[in-house]
Amino acid sequence: MHEYPITSQIVKIAGEYAQKAQAARVVKINLVVGDYSGFIGDSISMYFDILSEGTICEGAELSIRKVHPMLRCRSCGDLFKKVPFSFECPKCGGEGGPTEIGKEFYIESIEVE
Ligand SMILES: [Zn+2]
Repeated sequence: MHEYPITSQIVKIAGEYAQKAQAARVVKINLVVGDYSGFIGDSISMYFDILSEGTICEGAELSIRKVHPMLRCRSCGDLFKKVPFSFECPKCGGEGGPTEIGKEFYIESIEVE
């Protein structure tokens, strides 16, 4: 449910961007969403269709790039993909600690015309 206000923000930001660029419409919004960002891409897409209606963003493509969480091994420093129910480093068997990778949530770019 909390995707609603954030999607409203995305529509607003893209709209302001298009206005500044004196564009007729927003063609595409490239969004980066980490698995650990707390936001669900599918929900954002759904709300986007509703919220963009009647705005300069109507009909724009919302492209969502998902980021898989990465852990950093406390022993060897290796960066590896988080798998469910495990924090084990595939290289040395050490324990992986959380990183910022996977918590991303931002607009990468906005395409207008
Ligand atoms: Zn390791």
